[in-house]
Amino acid sequence: MHFLPQLFANNRIWSEQQVRRDPKYFERLCEIQRPQYLWIGCSDSRVPANTIVGLAPGEVFVHRNVANIVRPDDPNCLSVLQYSVDILQISNIIVCGHYRCGGIQAAFGPPAANPLEGWISHIRAIRAEHHDELASLDGETARWERLCELNVVAQIRILRTLPTIVQAWQRGHSLAIHGWIYDLRDGLLRDLEVSVNKPAR
Ligand SMILES: [Zn+2]
Repeated sequence: MHFLPQLFANNRIWSEQQVRRDPKYFERLCEIQRPQYLWIGCSDSRVPANTIVGLAPGEVFVHRNVANIVRPDDPNCLSVLQYSVDILQISNIIVCGHYRCGGIQAAFGPPAANPLEGWISHIRAIRAEHHDELASLDGETARWERLCELNVVAQIRILRTLPTIVQAWQRGHSLAIHGWIYDLRDGLLRDLEVSVNKPAR
C-alpha cells in the first residue's frame, strides 16, 4: 500500500531536478553539513525557514515549535542548541517569530487543553509581564502583533542565559543571537534589532 502518492511523486521530481542541475548534489550533502545558522521558528506551515531566507538544504539547522519558544526545561530545544553550537559550530542563531501567530493568539484566549496549555502558559507569562504596554495599544490586532514581537525578545533573553551559549562565549566562540519577525502579508522579514553576542552583565 502506498499512502500519499502525490508527495512521493513530488519528491521524485524534486530529486531528479536537483541531480539535473547538479549531478554531485546529494553526494556532497551526504558528506558533511556545515550550516552557519540555527533557525528557531514557529511550526506554522506558512513560515518555512529555508524558503523565506533563500537557503538550500545544508545551510540552515532548524528547530521549530509552536510560537518559537525556548525553554530551559525543554530537552528537545536544548539538544538542538547543544548540537548546533558545540558540534556544528554555527555562528548565528536566529529566533524568528511571525505576525498572526496562532500560538501567540491563544495566549489571549481561554485555556486550551493540555499539553498545549502548558506550552502556551509561557506566552501568557510574557503577556502578563508586558500588560501595561499591551493594554495601551489600540485594538486586538495591535496587541497580538506586539506580543508576537515581545515573545521573540523574551526568547533571546532566555537563550543568552543558557549554559550551552554562555560556555560557547566563554570559549571565545563567535556566536550571535538575532531576533526577527516575519510578516505573512508581504513575505518580508524584519530585524527587531535585539541581536546579542555576549552574556548579559
Ligand atoms: Zn506561529
